[in-house]
Amino acid sequence: MTKFGPCAICGKPAVESYKPFCSKRCADIDLNRWFTGGYAVPGEDADHADVVPSSPDEVSRFDH
Ligand SMILES: [Zn+2]
Repeated sequence: MTKFGPCAICGKPAVESYKPFCSKRCADIDLNRWFTGGYAVPGEDADHADVVPSSPDEVSRFDH
């Protein structure tokens, strides 16, 4: 039997069916984090490359 650590979302003991989470709910929460977090990861250099402003207007705003 393999033991899993606490659920990455809520800290409850994880279950095999949803490892490393305790339930489908927590697995879904983590999935949402991946989808929504992609645009809001602070200090992520690779992220900046994806959101470089393409219009001159945006660029000048960043200059200030
Ligand atoms: Zn959980």
